[in-house]
Amino acid sequence: MTDLFGESASPALALARKWRPRVFADLKGQEHVVRALSNALTQGRLHHAYLLTGTRGVGKTTLARILAKCLNCETGVTATPCGVCSACTQIDAGRFVDLLELDAASNTGVDNMREVLDNAQYAPTVGRYKVYIIDEVHMLSKPAFNSMLKTLEEPPAHVKFILATTDPQKIPVTVLSRCLQFNLKPMPPALVAQHLAEVLADENVNAEPAALNLLARAAAGSMRDALSLTDQAIAYGGGAIEAAGVEAMLGTVRRDYLFDLLDALAANDADGLMQQAQQLAEGGMAFDAALQDMGSLLTQLALMLHAPDSIKSGALEASFEDERMQMAASQLNAETVQLYYQIVLNGRRDLPYAPDEVSGFCMTLLRMLAFAPGAGNRTPQERPAPARVATASRVEPAPRAAMLAAAPVAAPVAVPAASPAPVIAAPDVASPVAALPSAPEPALIASEPTPHAAWDWLAVVASLRLGGMAKMLADHCELVAQTDASVMLRVAEAHKHLLDRAYQDKLVAALRDKFGPALTVSIELGAAVEKTPQQVRTRIKDERQAEAVAAIESDPFVRELVEQFGGQIDASTIQPLGEST
Ligand SMILES: [Zn+2]
Repeated sequence: MTDLFGESASPALALARKWRPRVFADLKGQEHVVRALSNALTQGRLHHAYLLTGTRGVGKTTLARILAKCLNCETGVTATPCGVCSACTQIDAGRFVDLLELDAASNTGVDNMREVLDNAQYAPTVGRYKVYIIDEVHMLSKPAFNSMLKTLEEPPAHVKFILATTDPQKIPVTVLSRCLQFNLKPMPPALVAQHLAEVLADENVNAEPAALNLLARAAAGSMRDALSLTDQAIAYGGGAIEAAGVEAMLGTVRRDYLFDLLDALAANDADGLMQQAQQLAEGGMAFDAALQDMGSLLTQLALMLHAPDSIKSGALEASFEDERMQMAASQLNAETVQLYYQIVLNGRRDLPYAPDEVSGFCMTLLRMLAFAPGAGNRTPQERPAPARVATASRVEPAPRAAMLAAAPVAAPVAVPAASPAPVIAAPDVASPVAALPSAPEPALIASEPTPHAAWDWLAVVASLRLGGMAKMLADHCELVAQTDASVMLRVAEAHKHLLDRAYQDKLVAALRDKFGPALTVSIELGAAVEKTPQQVRTRIKDERQAEAVAAIESDPFVRELVEQFGGQIDASTIQPLGEST
């Protein structure tokens, strides 16, 4: 027997137990499953076996128990069990003789399964049906599955199986095909926070909304975890729940630093950025998490700019403080947010290859600065022409300090004095860069960036009039970032020899032919290159690509953008508007 909520929980604190749904109507966030099951029960269309899938804590076992009551309530098979008859109360109390709960994680042997199935042929003792709830059913051994399959093939009329799993892929298809399957969804943080607010109002516990958002976020889709964390938070806060206390309890860092970084970017303040990074490092910041949080923040900003209604309606988490969000959204334009986002994703992916985490983080910030210098606080009219970025500064292996200086970041380089474009102060890095021959500055560069379709780099390369080594160079380039006026490419160390000036010039010329003479092109060397046309063609997939795909899947808003890298997306696994982290 298993009890998801732990028999030892203290009664005074067991919110998860106390608020465990006992009827379908109380089950949060699973309306699609509840509706289908209710209809089937009401219309008497019963199945022999149900399979409930979903991540931990979404309510699979809770749903299974409610279903057991629906089948055995003394008022008859119903979608709304009475809750007061002896069957209902005994099931709620966990002592109904015709309900057997097994945890396959601890009963994987075929002997246990035979024992259970031998028992199945006998009529129920008191109930209408003998109900078997098998949790984590994917953990059953193969013989155990075979044993179950025999019963599933010719199930006694009085037997119902309710199987639950976090990993349906591991269930043999022969078993799957005999089950009616329901997928329970992870609960969005906004829904969890709202439920927490209701629970705490009922419990007469004062709680700050920001604190509930933090708890909901930490629970990662599990209402059960959210309620358990809330128990802890009440104990931690001595009866009240405050954001500061919850932050301390969860070990989360105030997210203000993210806004501070955006402010420094907007102010074109490279020194400030590096100082902040240093302080974060001294504070023990985990930079992978920092970049992840920055990605979340940029996603939220993009949503504020493109689809503000989706935030107002609570469909998305509102995990960032309102005021600073509004301020940041008013400072940044949509294109810059997209560019930052792309750079942050790339920075996070490349973090393991950086000399150390701080360097990787700093490089990502500097890249944001280089590609959208002072993007934040300027109106379109005041915007400088995009920096003239240099081609391929060759980066030799170097000590860390030198690495920071001789960055493959495309540092802005002053344009010739004859040009009408304003000169941009270069960030405080001494990049050994060489400016490309200057092309005339068309006025459109300094105007508001127009929305443009993200490049499909593969298609672009295919359409370029290139041959020989220049074509090979293009085939081994990965698209790192791109705006209307600039494009940044990356070549793997292993293909360094392709960075011959003659080949580069041909590629640049072909791109300008296609996209206009003002296009600035930079090509950097990188340890991690994985989305070149060459690689996509040979269908190289590695773990980091899977990560990129996962990031896309969890954030449909940027799917379109990242598709240009040739990431392969399994559309069936993409969740609409799920949590972004
Ligand atoms: Zn009942």
